[in-house]
Amino acid sequence: MFDTVETFYRPGSVREAVRLLQNGKNRARVVAGGTDLVVEGDRSIRILIDITHAGLSYIHRKGKACVIGATTTMAAIENSTAIGALAGGVLARAAATCGSVQIRNMATLGGNLAHGSPAADTATPLLALDGEVVLADARGRRKIPLTEFYAGRGKTKALIVEIAIPALPRGGRWSFQKLGRTASDISLVNAAAGLQLDSKGRVKWVRIAVGAVAPTPMRAVHAEKLLLGREVDESALAAVCGEVAREARPISDVRASAEYRRETVRVLVRRALEECAAGRGCPL
Ligand SMILES: Cc1cc2nc3c(=O)[nH]c(=O)nc-3n(C[C@H](O)[C@H](O)[C@H](O)COP(=O)(O)OP(=O)(O)OC[C@H]3O[C@@H](n4cnc5c(N)ncnc54)[C@H](O)[C@@H]3O)c2cc1C
Repeated sequence: MFDTVETFYRPGSVREAVRLLQNGKNRARVVAGGTDLVVEGDRSIRILIDITHAGLSYIHRKGKACVIGATTTMAAIENSTAIGALAGGVLARAAATCGSVQIRNMATLGGNLAHGSPAADTATPLLALDGEVVLADARGRRKIPLTEFYAGRGKTKALIVEIAIPALPRGGRWSFQKLGRTASDISLVNAAAGLQLDSKGRVKWVRIAVGAVAPTPMRAVHAEKLLLGREVDESALAAVCGEVAREARPISDVRASAEYRRETVRVLVRRALEECAAGRGCPL
C-alpha cells in the first residue's frame, strides 16, 4: 500500500510534526490511526509523519471547557468517564458507533475530522456541542469553530492539535442518531441535537447538526431558528424537520439515493428532538 513512501517519521512533539509537515510540502502526509489513509491508498505520498507519539492522546478539563487531543482514539472517547459525563455522553455514544472494535482502537478523533468525510460520526455531536478545533502550522496555533473548519470543506494543511468543547448551557438535553447499512458501517445519515427549554417548556437554545447529507457535516441553522421560542409540539417538529430536509443537499451514491437521505434526515432529526424534549436525551 505504501510502497511509494520513502521516509517515515515519528515526531515526539507538535513542533517537530509541524516542521516535518512544512518541509515535506505536498509530498508529506500525517498519519494517526491510518484507518482512512490506508484505505485511500494515495500513491503520491512520499513522506509519512506518524503523530501518535506527539503527545496528543489526552482528555482533560481546561476551566469549564473539555479538550481532547487529536490522536485520542474512538475507543478512549467511548470509554472515558469525563466524556461519558459531558452532555450526557453524546460524543461517547457517537464514537461508540464508529466501525468495529478494531477500528475504534486505531481511529482517532483528529483523523475523523481531518479526513473531511461528510459522514464523520463525531462531527455532528461536536457541531451540536459548539466544538472548536486547535490547528498548528508554521505560523503558530489558532483555534477556530468547527463550523469555520467545515466552511473550508474540512480540508486543512495544518495539524489538528486538539478539539475543545466549551461550557454548555445548563439543563441541556442531547441526542445522537445514526442510520448505517450495518452496525459497523459509516453513516447513511446521522444527526445530533441539543435543546435547552425554559420554565414554560419553550426552546431557549437549540443546536441541530446533520451528517452525510451535504458536502460536509453541517448545522441546520434555519431549522434551529424556526424552533427558538416554541414548544416542541407536533407542528413545530413538522416545520423544523421539513426545513432540515430543505437545507440538506444530499447526493446519491453506493450507500443510498439522495431522496432516501432527504427523507431519513427528516426522521432522524425528529427522533433526536423528541428524545431531547422528552428528557430521554442525555442530561447535561
Ligand atoms: C472498516 C471501517 C469502518 C469505519 N467506520 C466508520 C464509522 O462508522 N464512522 C466514522 O465516522 N468513520 C468510520 N471509518 C473511518 C475512519 O475510521 C475514521 O474517519 C477515523 O476516525 C480516522 O482516523 P485515523 O486516525 O485512522 O485517520 P488517518 O487514516 O490516520 O488519517 C485520515 C486523514 O486525516 C489526516 N490526519 C489525521 N490526523 C490528523 C491531524 N491530527 N491533523 C491533520 N490531519 C490529520 C491524515 O493525513 C489523513 O488525510 C471507518 C473506516 C473503516 C476502514
